[in-house]
Amino acid sequence: MVKIKSVRTRVWNWKGPTVPPQANFCTNASDVLYERGDAMDSFRFHQWLTCEIETEDGTIGIGNAALAPDLVKGAIDQYYAPLVIGEDPFDYAYLWEKMYRRTHAWGRKGIGMVAISAVDIAIWDLMGKLVGKPVFKLLGGRTKEKIPVYYSKLYAGDIPDMQAEAEAAMQHGYSGFKTRFGFGPQDGMAGMRENLKRVEALREVIGYDKDLMLECYMGWNLDYTRRMLPKLEKYEPRWLEEPVIADDIHGCAELNKGPIPISGGEHEFSLMGFRQLLEAKAVSVIQYDTNRVGGITAAQKINALAEAHQVPVIPHAGQMHNYHLTMANVNCPMSEYFPVHDVEIGNELFYYIFDGDPDAEGGFLDLDDTKPGLGIEISDRHRHQFEVTE
Ligand code: MG
Repeated sequence: MVKIKSVRTRVWNWKGPTVPPQANFCTNASDVLYERGDAMDSFRFHQWLTCEIETEDGTIGIGNAALAPDLVKGAIDQYYAPLVIGEDPFDYAYLWEKMYRRTHAWGRKGIGMVAISAVDIAIWDLMGKLVGKPVFKLLGGRTKEKIPVYYSKLYAGDIPDMQAEAEAAMQHGYSGFKTRFGFGPQDGMAGMRENLKRVEALREVIGYDKDLMLECYMGWNLDYTRRMLPKLEKYEPRWLEEPVIADDIHGCAELNKGPIPISGGEHEFSLMGFRQLLEAKAVSVIQYDTNRVGGITAAQKINALAEAHQVPVIPHAGQMHNYHLTMANVNCPMSEYFPVHDVEIGNELFYYIFDGDPDAEGGFLDLDDTKPGLGIEISDRHRHQFEVTE
């Protein structure tokens, strides 16, 4: 048995150039506040956390997380690292429960579960490296020749710019496209019309043989969404994503009774959280993010639960921890894909920190059957553009 020797956490603060903020590029939960300021501020994050777990033989597993990296680093260093050091990484289910139960008073959701996720992902990467197998081969293996991906960007902006972006993305063969709404309840009827104009403009470009996904990022409410749904129906969206705040499970459940599937879960945590969503029939598509939901150990349990409810799982964001789960589960039909581009809101940063994330080609990506672990390494390419805190 090889034991865990150390846990190293680093916060990567991006100091390189960023695309300047634009107004109204995506509705969000802060829109309802009377002092909106830069309402997108909390949606823009230029930090990332890496968590490296090393065993006595010098093998290193890499995990990562993007939410509140400074706080998550503190939580791992102070609380979670001591719980796994000296343990066998192959006891992953026990280690997960130990982390979950020892911090249950405060760690069940949010910061604590993000920290558990980063540690758990590193443990899975470690297990893969120790046995010389890719993680997906430990989870169920290859269920697809390749993973279909959908293009996820198309932030709200000037209509010609959005159409040009969709046009360019069409050339790359994606079969699905996700756009963000720029207007919500406080923008009234005029804002509703602006939202609808953009959906129509995108359908003009991509036609009706491609999936169109619509993202609200919790920036609407139940009343506004009830009024919008009938107006959106003719555009045949594949889903409407997070129309209301993550805690409003009953609101989601009511909306999900209509003809447009409601998706969500990127702000939900652990198996128990998804049991509540599924039992309430709140979502027709589950979108956990492995680096928030409790890592690969929790995600795989949620996959089984979702399959029993016949609700597909399409994880939030790209990234290898999500791709490996998608490859290994028949009930995960495709992946979200953030195209590689300049640093804008921050969800692109993983391309700047790691080597190994596959590029999409012709609307698909593939994983290597021979690369052990998750298949990523921390890169030196952009190291000089980060300030790293240990
Ligand atoms: Mg989303």
